[in-house]
Amino acid sequence: MEMDREDTDSTKRDIKSLTLAQLQGVMTEASQKSYRAKQLYEWMHVKLARDYEEMTNLPGTLKTFCREHFDYAALQLIKVQESRVDGTKKFLFALSDGNLIESVWMRYKHGNSVCISSQAGCRMGCRFCASTIDGLERNLLPSEMLDQIYAITRYTGERVSNVVVMGSGEPLDNYENLLCFIRLLTDENGLHISQRSVTVSTCGIVPMMYRLADEKLQITLALSLHAATDEKRRKLMPIANQYSLDELMRACTYYFQQTGRRITFEYSLAGGVNDTKEDVEKLVSLIKPLHAHINLIPINPVKERDFIRSGKEAVTVFKNKLEKNGINVTIRREMGQDIDGACGQLRRSHLLKRS
Ligand code: SAH
Repeated sequence: MEMDREDTDSTKRDIKSLTLAQLQGVMTEASQKSYRAKQLYEWMHVKLARDYEEMTNLPGTLKTFCREHFDYAALQLIKVQESRVDGTKKFLFALSDGNLIESVWMRYKHGNSVCISSQAGCRMGCRFCASTIDGLERNLLPSEMLDQIYAITRYTGERVSNVVVMGSGEPLDNYENLLCFIRLLTDENGLHISQRSVTVSTCGIVPMMYRLADEKLQITLALSLHAATDEKRRKLMPIANQYSLDELMRACTYYFQQTGRRITFEYSLAGGVNDTKEDVEKLVSLIKPLHAHINLIPINPVKERDFIRSGKEAVTVFKNKLEKNGINVTIRREMGQDIDGACGQLRRSHLLKRS
């Protein structure tokens, strides 16, 4: 048989990141009937098989072909921390190259939600965030984003109904893989999670927000705002040096126009930093025209960073002021407070212990 490019450079293709149509092409390559594609796809994306062994109705020749030509992403579960307060579970997984990532499972009234990572590490450098301290290790493949949900579904035995891409990493810095992941996750032949039940959170990479808007997906875009003036935002988030609030707000408006989906703003409250009366007044005038929803997140103090959480009273005053101005506000319910801390902290504490 002719050696294909993947064989010669020893990087195998990633089978769980292929669409059904692409898998049909694989069946032709493997001299198999095309209906096998659907069976294989179902094993991977509906029955959530961990490897080919489980795929009892597929011929041995096909499994051998796949093993030779493809990698099969299956995350290795390293650790689970379970909250005694609300049942929230934090998962630490190892990727096939040993990189570590974390994901969170939360139970809400309206269903189970999983928060996934989109990169191992992150290069955005937000000052309050633990995920970025050691920089970016690498982008996650679509299959590695999916497998966080699959592994958690197998572990809990319960269906996941909402997915938020709000774990470690900047999803719009891994754009192609993110899009492929969303397509597979929401595909009617796979888990078929509704696009409206998927939220992608970004620190605000403006050109990528325009690209995403043009895809006209029905997902929710969450924008990490955290400050209402350029000067303050630049102190918290290096990305603000590249794109001004003015450019960011225009991109948000465009996203809404193209998709009909309202943006959710995220605003992490750090005591004395961005939680004053002046801050909330500026915030009101910035976001009021967008009729958006705002999610306030009391900051999770990270050991290596010197931010403190806003006091209860400051949070209430902040919230009331927004509401008085007709802005829809929620305070992020603090799930799993007894088990964690902020994004990236479980991974980080594990890495520190190893070194
Ligand atoms: N890169 C994406 C996803 C990151 S995490 C983004 O920037 O949106 C999801 C949210 O948690 C972001 O709003 C992020 O700014 C916020 N966040 C990160 N670390 C935090 C901390 N220690 N306390 C509170 N919020 C934090």
